[in-house]
Amino acid sequence: MTELLLHMIEKHKKVTEEGKVANYIPELSKANPTDLGIYVLDNDGNEFFAGDYDKKFTVQSISKVVSLMLAILDNGEELVFSKVGMDPSGDPFNSIRKLETSSRRKPYNPMINAGAIVVSSMIKGVDVKDKFNRLLDFFKLITEDPTLDLNSRVYLSETETGNKNRSMGYFLKSENIIVGNVEEVLEIYFKQCSIDVTTKTIARLGLFLANEGKLSTGEEIITPRITRIVKTLMVTCGMYDSSGEFAVRVGLPSKSGVGGGIVSVIPHKMGIGVYSPSLDKKGNPIAGISLLEDLCNELKCRIF
Ligand code: GLN
Repeated sequence: MTELLLHMIEKHKKVTEEGKVANYIPELSKANPTDLGIYVLDNDGNEFFAGDYDKKFTVQSISKVVSLMLAILDNGEELVFSKVGMDPSGDPFNSIRKLETSSRRKPYNPMINAGAIVVSSMIKGVDVKDKFNRLLDFFKLITEDPTLDLNSRVYLSETETGNKNRSMGYFLKSENIIVGNVEEVLEIYFKQCSIDVTTKTIARLGLFLANEGKLSTGEEIITPRITRIVKTLMVTCGMYDSSGEFAVRVGLPSKSGVGGGIVSVIPHKMGIGVYSPSLDKKGNPIAGISLLEDLCNELKCRIF
C-alpha cells in the first residue's frame, strides 16, 4: 500500500499545476500549490501515508460534516432539517442566489455555505465561546486528536473578508431561519473553518464515519442513522456542483475544503485524508481528485 501511495503522489503531482490555491481568503494564498499528500487508515489499525501528509492546513468546509453531526445530536434530525434541505443546489458553494429566488425558504443543503451557517447557528452552548469550544471538543473526540486547535491567522483573515457569508447570515436572519445574533453565528462558522488539521486528522474523521460513528475503542458516539444521513449528503452535495461528476469518477462519500483537504470514506473499511491546496474552478482540490480516482481504480473500493 505505501508503495502504491508513493507512486500515486508522484504520478499526480503534476496535476497540481492545473489549478490554483484559494486567494479569496488571503491567508490561504500562502499554501504551496504543488503540495500533495495522503493518509489512509484502516480498521485493523494500519496507517499508510505519502507525500505532504504531515503539513498543517485549515479544515475549511470539511468542518461542515462535523458541525452537522453535532447539530443533529443537539437538536434532533427533524429540527435541523426543518431549517436546511437535503438536496444538491447545483450552485457554487458560496452562492447566495437561490436563497431568495427558490420557493423553498431554506438553504438547499448543509454542505454549501448558507446551509452550514444555519447548522452552526444550531450548536448549543451558554455563549459563543462555549458553542465553539463544544464543536472543537466534539471534533477532537471523533478524530481522537486532542491537539486540534484554531488557526487564529486564518480566522482573522476569514472574518475580515467573509462579507458574502455575512450577507447570507443576515438574509437568513431576516427570513427567521437563523435566530439569535448573526455575528456570533458567523464567529462560530469562521472559527470552525479555521481549525488546523493534517491528512491524518481527516483520515480519522473518515474512519469514524466508515465505522458508523464508533471510535477505535468501539465506543459509539453517534448512531449509524446519523452517519448514514451525513454520508449520503457527502455523496450528493459534498463536492458542491461537481458532486455528480465526483461520484462517477471517485464514487466514495467525500467532503472537500478550500484549504485543500478531502475526506473520503470507504464504508466499514477505511478513512482517507488528502491534502492538495491547488483547486479546480469549483473550489475542489484538483490533484486530490485525480489521485483518489486513480486509487479507487487500483483498490476497487467504489461504493457504486
Ligand atoms: N470558509 C470557507 C468559506 O466560507 C469555506 C468554503 C469551502 O471550504 N468551500 O468560504
